[in-house]
Amino acid sequence: MSETRSIIDATDALSSVPAAGSRRCAPQTGRIRWYFGPMDCGKSTLALQIDHNQARQGRHGLVLVRHDRSGRPQISSRIGISRQATEVADDADLRLLVRSRWAAGLRVDYLVVDEAQFLSAEQVEQLAELADDSQVDVYCFGIATDFRSRMFPGARRLFELADELHPVQVEVLCWCGLPGRFNARVSGGRVLREGDTVMVADTDHADEVRYQVLCRRHFRIGELAEDPVSPQQLSLT
Ligand SMILES: [Zn+2]
Repeated sequence: MSETRSIIDATDALSSVPAAGSRRCAPQTGRIRWYFGPMDCGKSTLALQIDHNQARQGRHGLVLVRHDRSGRPQISSRIGISRQATEVADDADLRLLVRSRWAAGLRVDYLVVDEAQFLSAEQVEQLAELADDSQVDVYCFGIATDFRSRMFPGARRLFELADELHPVQVEVLCWCGLPGRFNARVSGGRVLREGDTVMVADTDHADEVRYQVLCRRHFRIGELAEDPVSPQQLSLT
């Protein structure tokens, strides 16, 4: 909570954008903030909270999502709150998306992007352009690495371009008690190492394939809890 508060304070300082004529000192840019963590660490809840706090300050935001777990264009957190969002297509140009809002007379002061690991590298670069040239603040939320512990392309570009990196670690523990950092894909009591990177809404295999958050050591050696019933922390619903 204190981390969230300090972030909001930093945003307050940026919210008073000077008029164009008075920008003689340092150039004003929006900031890109990248909040990353394993599944179930509370990223979507934090995204909704930041959107709420921004809106209360009179700022206007656009909430974007890729491959939300609900299957509908909204941000849904596992604690049950949700908000309508705009689904970003594979080939969507985020600059055009924002400019079309402006053309319609709507303000876009900030963007909230959930599941941002699924953005393409080009789309992350479009976010940087919006921040630099149009002073749009960007809040991205997502998972850094896939089930093989390899970085998602969108996550990689965010690490390269973001102004601020915020690891989100809200009590997601491996079964051994160490902080959970990796999303293991598990089937038949084994950690899978091969397969497609994206398997979010594959309901055909939802019964037999699931994700489990593990510490690095147990991810590396593929050791799951001895009692497979206890840490049923993840499902594909
Ligand atoms: Zn462990």
